[in-house]
Amino acid sequence: MQYIFSHNDGDQSETDALKVSGMNHEGVLFFYGLLLGLGVFVLCLLGIISRPHLDLAAFWPANAFMLGMMIRFPCLARGAAWVSCAAGFFLADALTGSDLLKNLVLNGGNLAGIATGYALLAGLPLPDQRLQKTRSILYFLRAIMMASLVAGLTGIIANPLLFGGGWKQGFIFWSATEMTNYMAVLPVLLTLPRLDFRWQPIRQKLGQISLNKAVPLLALMASAMGSVLIGGPGAVAFPVPALLWCALSYNLFTISCLAFAFSTWTLLTIHIGLMPVGDVLDPRELLISTRVGVTLIALAPLVVGSVMAARDELVERLSFLASRDALTGLRNRRAFFEDGSSAIEMIDGDRGDVAVMMLDIDHFKSINDTFGHEAGDKVLSDFAGILQKTVREGDIVGRIGGEEFAVVLPECDVTEAVAVAHRIGDVLRSTDIMPISGASIRATVSIGLILNKNVKNLDRLLAHADEALYRAKTSGRDRCELSYA
Ligand code: GH3
Ligand code: MG
Ligand code: MG
Repeated sequence: MQYIFSHNDGDQSETDALKVSGMNHEGVLFFYGLLLGLGVFVLCLLGIISRPHLDLAAFWPANAFMLGMMIRFPCLARGAAWVSCAAGFFLADALTGSDLLKNLVLNGGNLAGIATGYALLAGLPLPDQRLQKTRSILYFLRAIMMASLVAGLTGIIANPLLFGGGWKQGFIFWSATEMTNYMAVLPVLLTLPRLDFRWQPIRQKLGQISLNKAVPLLALMASAMGSVLIGGPGAVAFPVPALLWCALSYNLFTISCLAFAFSTWTLLTIHIGLMPVGDVLDPRELLISTRVGVTLIALAPLVVGSVMAARDELVERLSFLASRDALTGLRNRRAFFEDGSSAIEMIDGDRGDVAVMMLDIDHFKSINDTFGHEAGDKVLSDFAGILQKTVREGDIVGRIGGEEFAVVLPECDVTEAVAVAHRIGDVLRSTDIMPISGASIRATVSIGLILNKNVKNLDRLLAHADEALYRAKTSGRDRCELSYA
């Protein structure tokens, strides 16, 4: 069965469906609801099996898994999936010998905590759900704290009723454990990149891995080993600088995975006695203390990661804006020269020539004089739209002067280049340009074209195209001339 996991990016063009060939939409969602329930069931079994070896539910990822999947893939958050997950929780306990009361109390608490977390996370804007904004981590923290406190209420009942302990200790223990599990697992799911199983992008990514990039990770591993070797109450914090270094170096998903690895490793090594942290506390207090401490340390790289993600997005947006012409949205002169030059350098001579086109709107000054400057602007922006629609995908288009435009067409033969130029001229000539005020305007354009495979210098190619443009102007305008250089 072939399936595609896509997610809701808040973009209408992207369906939040998980498509399975041969099934209708509802059937697909029902099927994935069942799968989610199965996942919860398996994780509950893992948690239950680990109980005798570790402490009570030291490893309980089922709650965070269910919550994370429902937030990350909103189409899963439906009644059927809730029912199937609840069944997963109850069945896992029932099959491992829990009586009905224990089953109801513990799993009622699990579901109440998840529902609280869901209510607080589901309504957040998408970038906050993905921890991509500066304050996202605060909303995240609020959600997991509330979810953990609600789960802690279960501890108030469960600890005296089922385990013969005190209510206060039950509350603290349950809340701390829930918080640790949410903190470790949830960010990994929330920041999970779009799932892409195609081999090519994966190979590309693997190819980009270099030893330099691995240094922060190696530092993290070394400091985690240092914690184990040296031990003592301060050892838990040894990996903090390396975690922050990783946070400055990797993407959010990788950071979340590393924070998860750090939490699991540290809690496990303390628990099995590999990292001695002192014996001042009784074992249960020590457990709570280390869980809360480790959880809070794991928060640090996520805060840095979120801020970095927000910063990177801003830098990307600003550099895009800095490369665009404000009126037409095309590349400005600088960006056109940068992108055009690198496209020309990358041309493989065997795959055809590069064509460079200079375009200048005819008698533009008189359009301005007759209809006004605003109408002139409308001609420029409409012409930019025509240009972009007419050239091929991958061609580089820029506005290099007032009413002067240029295009680099990599790997193009003369027939194709001339055809593109004529199409641009034909479309502009037959388009009624409608300024907000005033009558419709018809405009024409003159074009100079050069084709070459040897000259790798955009300035020189443009100079030749400009000569051809000059000929187009002097021989009557509204035409395309070819340079023979
Ligand atoms: P030709 O056919 O020989 O190209 O004549 P032309 O009138 O198009 O050329 P000329 O260079 O004499 O005039 C260009 C005009 O373009 C002059 C300038 O005021 C106008 N212009 C430059 N930038 C803008 C702009 O951003 N908006 C508007 N509306 N006009 C502009
Ligand atoms: Mg001009
Ligand atoms: Mg002109």
